[in-house]
Amino acid sequence: MSRVVTVSGSSESTDYPRPYIDALRAVGIELVVIAPGGADPHGWSGLLLMGGSDVNPALYGEVPHTETQKPDDARDQLECALIADAIARDVPVLAICRGAQILNVQHGGTLVQHLDSVARHRQRNPENLGLPAHSIAITPGTLLACIAGNAPICEVNSRHHQAIARLGEGLRVSARDVEDGTIEAVERPDKRFILGVQWHPENMSASDARQAALFQAFADVIHTEPRP
Ligand code: MN
Repeated sequence: MSRVVTVSGSSESTDYPRPYIDALRAVGIELVVIAPGGADPHGWSGLLLMGGSDVNPALYGEVPHTETQKPDDARDQLECALIADAIARDVPVLAICRGAQILNVQHGGTLVQHLDSVARHRQRNPENLGLPAHSIAITPGTLLACIAGNAPICEVNSRHHQAIARLGEGLRVSARDVEDGTIEAVERPDKRFILGVQWHPENMSASDARQAALFQAFADVIHTEPRP
């Protein structure tokens, strides 16, 4: 079974990675959760960046907003190092929520520390994390558009108060909120698979084929040898 590595946050419960583990197991991938300062991972063929607490704004040259959470510097640092390693080896990266945000920061981009339209980006029913919260418009011709079967609009769940502001170098926008224009997905066209999504497909993939397709596409690239 192919192994994908991910980093846990210091403030998360040990149950937190479960939906990610299940979503990847469904496509034949073992998710290996590592903690900063733990054993060095080896033999990984993909990187998953999970959701979690806010990236330290110092990493993009800003002071913290009053709503910005306490930083987890060890996690920020390890994730940035793993992203750099994955890019250097053209290893697939799937970045979710906070993951998409740190992917952007690692590329030199910035974040909106607290969205004006934050209510729109929260689950109406917090008991069901898989329910759609708002719609996104997918940019035609992108990797995400291909995965979504070229559907122009897609419904997604949402539980974030931050978002990508200035885009990092080498990234392009692959989806935006249909109403407020918030960046909801980014990708790196020069690599095989580097995709960041602002929603949580791991909570939707069991019931939504389009979200399951995202994990399947990630797995398919992992199981394909890189071009020489
Ligand atoms: Mn959203």
